[in-house]
Amino acid sequence: MQYKRSSELFSEAQEYIPGGVNSPVRAFKAVGGTPIFVKEAKGAYLTDEDGNKLIDYIASWGPLILGHAYEPVINAVIEKAKKGTSFGMPTEIETELAKLAVSMVPNIDKIRFVNSGTEACMSAVRLARGYTGKDKIIKFSGCYHGHSDSFLIQAGSGAVTFGSPNSPGVTQGTAKDTLLANYNDLAGVQALVDANKREIAAIIIEPIAGNMGCIIPEEHFIKGLRELCTKEGILLIFDEVMTGFRLARGGAQEVLGIAADIVTFGKVIGGGLPVGAFAARNEIMAKLAPEGPVYQAGTLSGNPLAMSAGLAMLTALNNNPNIFRSLADKTTYLHKGLEKVLKDNGIKHQINRFGSMISVHFTETPVVDFASSAKGNNETFKKYFHGMLRNGIYLPPSAFESYFLNDALSFEDLDATIKALENIVEELK
Ligand code: PMP
Repeated sequence: MQYKRSSELFSEAQEYIPGGVNSPVRAFKAVGGTPIFVKEAKGAYLTDEDGNKLIDYIASWGPLILGHAYEPVINAVIEKAKKGTSFGMPTEIETELAKLAVSMVPNIDKIRFVNSGTEACMSAVRLARGYTGKDKIIKFSGCYHGHSDSFLIQAGSGAVTFGSPNSPGVTQGTAKDTLLANYNDLAGVQALVDANKREIAAIIIEPIAGNMGCIIPEEHFIKGLRELCTKEGILLIFDEVMTGFRLARGGAQEVLGIAADIVTFGKVIGGGLPVGAFAARNEIMAKLAPEGPVYQAGTLSGNPLAMSAGLAMLTALNNNPNIFRSLADKTTYLHKGLEKVLKDNGIKHQINRFGSMISVHFTETPVVDFASSAKGNNETFKKYFHGMLRNGIYLPPSAFESYFLNDALSFEDLDATIKALENIVEELK
C-alpha cells in the first residue's frame, strides 16, 4: 500500500496544527509511521487519500455503530441543515431525543445534552459535588473520562499512550481531589473510602473499560462498588460514553444489572456528530441550572444537526434491538478466528471481549486492570498493527484502545481480517 498523499498531507498539517492532528491518538505516535488521512467512508470501509480501501475497526472510535454514512442519519442531518444549523433557542427535537434516550436507558428520568464525552463527564462530576456537598472523587487508573482537569490523573487512552497520564497544567489543588484506585480492586476502593470518610462525592468508572484495551469488571467488584456507594452516600457515575447504546439499548447498566446514579454518554448518542449527555433521576437532575444551582451551559448544546443525527441513530437501534446480539455474534466470531491463528502459532496473547468491544494484548497474563494491560509487548503490537494495515485492516493505533465493531461489517470482512492475521503472524514470532 502507498501512503504518499497521506504523508504529504500530514507534513502540511504539522505546520499548522500541533502534531498535525486535533486529537493525539490520531498521530500514530504509539505505533510509528504515517497517519492515514481519510477521504471518505461507507459502511465498514474507509477510503484513504491514496485510494486504499480499508476495513475499519474504529468507527470514529465508537459512534458509527451501524457503519459509516448510515443513510437515515445522513438524510436526517441534510434535511435539518436546510432549516438552520443552530439557534440557541429551544427546539422540539431536543425533547424528542431526550424522551427516546430516557425510554431506552434504565434508572434515568432526565437528560442534559452537551457537545462531547469530556463535557458530559466534567458536568456529571460537578453535579455530583453539588448534590452531595462533597469534593473528592475516585477514579480508576487507566480509565479515561475525557480531558478535563480532574480526570487527567492516571488517565487511559491517548493520555497513557503519550506517556502523560498526569498532564502538566493540572493544578495540585485539582489533583488532590481525585483519588485513584485500581480497576477490579474493591478492597482498594474500600480503603480509600475509609481514609476519606464523608469526603467523597462520586466514584466514576467505565463500567466496561475501553481505554486500556477492553477490560471487564468482575461481578463482585462492580456489585461491591454499588453497595459501597449506597452505604456511604457516594454517587456512582457510570461513564457510558463508549458502552451507552452500544452494548444494549440500556447500555452497561442493563447488561450488568447495576443501577448507576449518574450516567454519561457520548459517541453513539450523536450518531457521528458532536454530542455528549449526562442523565440521572429527577432528584439529582433538579440540582442543575436553571432548576437548581449547579451551573452548566453550552452555545451549541442540543443544536438541531447533532440532535437529528442522534435521533436517527437511536431510533434505528431502538427499532432493532437484535442489532446488539448481531454485533456481539460478529465480535465473538472475530475473537475465535484471531485466537485460533495466534494459538496455532504460539503467540502469547490475551483477547478481551464484551459485546462489540474487543482488544488483543500480547502478554501471557490476564488483562484485568491498567498494570496488566501495560505488560503487553508494544513491539509486537506495532508489528501487528502495521502488518494488519498493510493487509487492508484499520485497527486502533494503540494497544490501550478497544476496537469498536460496526454492524456494516460482514462475515466476509471478518474472514478477511482473520486471513490478514494469518498473512502476518510469522512477523509476530
Ligand atoms: N469517556 C470515555 C469512556 C471515553 O472513551 C471518552 C473518549 N474516548 C470520553 C469520555 C471523552 O469523550 P470525548 O472524546 O467525546 O470528549
